[in-house]
Amino acid sequence: MDQETLPPHVLMFPLPLQGPVNAMFKLAELLCLSGFHITFLLTDHIHTQLLKYSNIHSRFNAYPGFRLETISDGLPENHPRSGAELMDLFNSLKIKTMILFKDLLTSGKLNSDLRRPVTCIIADGSMGYACDVANGVGLPVIYVRTFSACCLWVFFCLPKLIESGEIPFVGNDLDRPIKSIPGMEGFIRHRDLPIFCRTRNLSDPILNLYLQNLPEITECSRAHGLILNTFDALEGPILDQIRAFCPNLYSVGPLHSHLKHQLLGQSSPSLSSSNSLWKEDMSCITWLDSQPPNSVLYVSFGSLAVMPKEQYIELWHGLVNGGFHFLWVIRPNSVASDLTNIPSELSKGTEERGFIVEWAPQEEVLAHKAVGGFLAHGGWNSTLESVIEGVPMICWPYFLDQQVNSRYVDEVWKLGRDMKDTCDRVIVEKVGERIDGR
Ligand code: UDP
Repeated sequence: MDQETLPPHVLMFPLPLQGPVNAMFKLAELLCLSGFHITFLLTDHIHTQLLKYSNIHSRFNAYPGFRLETISDGLPENHPRSGAELMDLFNSLKIKTMILFKDLLTSGKLNSDLRRPVTCIIADGSMGYACDVANGVGLPVIYVRTFSACCLWVFFCLPKLIESGEIPFVGNDLDRPIKSIPGMEGFIRHRDLPIFCRTRNLSDPILNLYLQNLPEITECSRAHGLILNTFDALEGPILDQIRAFCPNLYSVGPLHSHLKHQLLGQSSPSLSSSNSLWKEDMSCITWLDSQPPNSVLYVSFGSLAVMPKEQYIELWHGLVNGGFHFLWVIRPNSVASDLTNIPSELSKGTEERGFIVEWAPQEEVLAHKAVGGFLAHGGWNSTLESVIEGVPMICWPYFLDQQVNSRYVDEVWKLGRDMKDTCDRVIVEKVGERIDGR
């Protein structure tokens, strides 16, 4: 077959975490629907989890141009790959996986008579070194960032924040307005910057890690373009700021919603597109079916947050005292110590009005008519999913982009409440007053 007549062949390499993998699968499926050939590269760890808990194989069987490849992330299988140990994953990808990635690109393994050789790579921008490897073998790269444009813009402005003396943090006033981020004047306070910006020391290792990696974040010239899972109606002003540095910026989000609508237009739509790394507990949908409209607060802190037991207990008191019904995702290993010896009033209140699962089909939950609010960490995928379903949020941010996102949810988009730095049962209780169906 004349290979020139075949569709473009894109190699996609997501950051091996739930949020980025989820978003990148949606982009892959959209590209498959447009006739592209895709090789999707997963780490062995993520692949194993997806084989157990998702329907990727049956779903992508419908696309003959789709193929999966796997690569090692260099960590032992029992490594947590979350919370404080997340940096191990980033280091291992950079040092170990990139050597394997180069071998894969040069091995000829990705070629076949039925596909063109790889014509382009779409890789997560957190792995900027993938760009060097790809450029080394003459392949163009387009970066994808799966967090918000507003947080990306804060990263762009880190040097300005240091130049202006706003980092390191001096004094005690976390409410001090930040002045050196164009487009965010007037509403961003120091407490709304990513948590590592609270350092009092310019030699702080985390701050320096971000500064060292800044070229990977901001030098869009290394890649041929930048794809963001966001949309102009939501983040237009900040996207304009980033476009001044990255003219080839594609704001193609919200991917989950575009995919849903594209699939609805198919003759035999497969609407269930789970990319979950944990088993989705469908019993929560049956439970939601028995609840009145807009009466349930859905609670989930995503796939990476690991919180102290005291914070869980404080939030739990708020959920029980509020008198509303709640569906709570408590992911395995998401509490820093065992959730044992729970006060009896919490167990009783949960039996009466709550439902706890280890992992939920979140998109389906947020689209359920019984759900009237979302207590979340402000992760970007969760935020977009909530925005699209019109579910008001209350944000308890943990790290990365979540401190910035939660401020935007509250102060800019007016779509919810930001309770950062105040883990207070009373705030959670009061959320119930806003849930319509009570
Ligand atoms: N998610 C899910 N079930 C759950 C909790 C989360 O399917 O019980 C999904 C959620 O829909 C989202 C992703 O996991 O797509 C979490 O990504 P996000 O960016 O919100 O947060 P992160 O996990 O990266 O902190």
